[in-house]
Amino acid sequence: MRRRTCAGAILLALLYYLSARLGMQLFALQPGNMTLLWLVSGIGLVMLVRHGWRALPLILLASLAANYPGLSGPGWQQGLQHALLAALADGLSTALAAWLLQRRLPNGLQRARELGAFCFYVCLLPSALGIGLVCINLFWGGYLSAAAAWQLWPPMLLADSLGVLLIYPLYQAWREMSRPSAEEWRWIAVLSLSNVLLILLAFNGYSGLLYFILPVLLWQVVKVRLQGLYLTLLLSIVAVLAVAARQLGPFRGLEPAEAYLMLLGFVVTSVLVTLCLGLYYRQLLDADASRIHWQSEALHDPLTGLFNRRAFTPLLAAEHQRVLRTHRPCALAVLDLDHFKRVNDQYGHGVGDGVLVQLAALMQQHVRDIDSVARVGGEEFAILFPEASAEEAAQALERIRLALAARPLQIDGEQIAITVSSGVVGYRGGPQSAEDLLEAADAQLYRAKHGGRNCVMQAEEVLPAA
Ligand code: GH3
Ligand code: MG
Ligand code: MG
Repeated sequence: MRRRTCAGAILLALLYYLSARLGMQLFALQPGNMTLLWLVSGIGLVMLVRHGWRALPLILLASLAANYPGLSGPGWQQGLQHALLAALADGLSTALAAWLLQRRLPNGLQRARELGAFCFYVCLLPSALGIGLVCINLFWGGYLSAAAAWQLWPPMLLADSLGVLLIYPLYQAWREMSRPSAEEWRWIAVLSLSNVLLILLAFNGYSGLLYFILPVLLWQVVKVRLQGLYLTLLLSIVAVLAVAARQLGPFRGLEPAEAYLMLLGFVVTSVLVTLCLGLYYRQLLDADASRIHWQSEALHDPLTGLFNRRAFTPLLAAEHQRVLRTHRPCALAVLDLDHFKRVNDQYGHGVGDGVLVQLAALMQQHVRDIDSVARVGGEEFAILFPEASAEEAAQALERIRLALAARPLQIDGEQIAITVSSGVVGYRGGPQSAEDLLEAADAQLYRAKHGGRNCVMQAEEVLPAA
């Protein structure tokens, strides 16, 4: 391992040890190493995913150190023996979880429909094995009666699975996404605090408020991205279980084992619903973003970024309809570069492309925001001018023509002198169709080409070439 990786693995092992100790302090049931929240199942999994199998000895060591104090009561030799067995059980279940994750979900937990496989293969199956071994170990060492071990097994299984559900998705989201924005941090803080407040009230006489944690988390689903959601989820669940280990609040009056099972049942279902909705909401956003992206790709020319013919045709049709309805005019222009073949022949296609890009930028500079510029062919462009007369459009085209003719374009260190010809028509609501308008503008362009190029031709009026 390189030094940084090595330091990272040791840091995670320390975190493993501390969270195990914290779990035993904050969420301890009897005996001392049984806890309501075993976050280390998730931290161990992250260690193996991040650092590979080399992290396994560190997991064993951290687990041994964390388990020993809780088991050393009857004597150090017996304590060490059973702490070693507990560490082996932890290591084995974590290794199994990592192996199954790699085999079943090589890209991690990405989609809501993968949640079932994640729960079964990465949480339940390895946890069932690990907790089974831990319970046998505790019974064998005389720390637990058979009946107690049997009763503790289901809540422990949930607690262990919960550790993976809370830590692994958070790690994955943190690794894949950019850090939360300042606004997201604000939402994370406000909603986490709201949940802690609800939890405190729920465990102090207002039991029903516990169920309101879920709507707060759902609110979070739409306000922040997955990492923020998972962070709030972790903080909220840690708070619930920390309080519940002291007093059973809404779950009081039940047998402790039953109360723990109900509490963990509530917590695990809340976590699953939140994870599922978070993943599903991200899928919806991704699908939406990709639809918008492909829609935009389909309507724009990749070289110049202008509208393409597919986008321009409906724009022209809609404008044609608007003029018919309102009797307020529009104008249409078509442009074509003069002797563009020569540019390609002399300087190459790359420089020719550069000319097209610069002309596109120039046209957009010289028209209004409401005008639509499109690349309708190889080096042919069209501009739609809503609410404008043919004269006003011709003036804009003249500005473009003059700007291009005034000085050569600089492309790849070459000076390219080039001119453009254009034809303009105005429309005030006559019987012509949108296609007729395009044909009429083309006819004017044809006149411009035959009139010597580098000029703007208008249906009735011809603007002189400079
Ligand atoms: P004219 O003044 O009569 O318009 O002469 P011209 O040479 O410009 O003739 P025409 O308009 O027919 O030429 C079209 C040329 O535009 C042919 C083709 O090589 C070039 N062209 C079309 N699309 C592209 C493109 O995407 N990139 C480049 N570099 N050239 C293109
Ligand atoms: Mg041309
Ligand atoms: Mg052409």
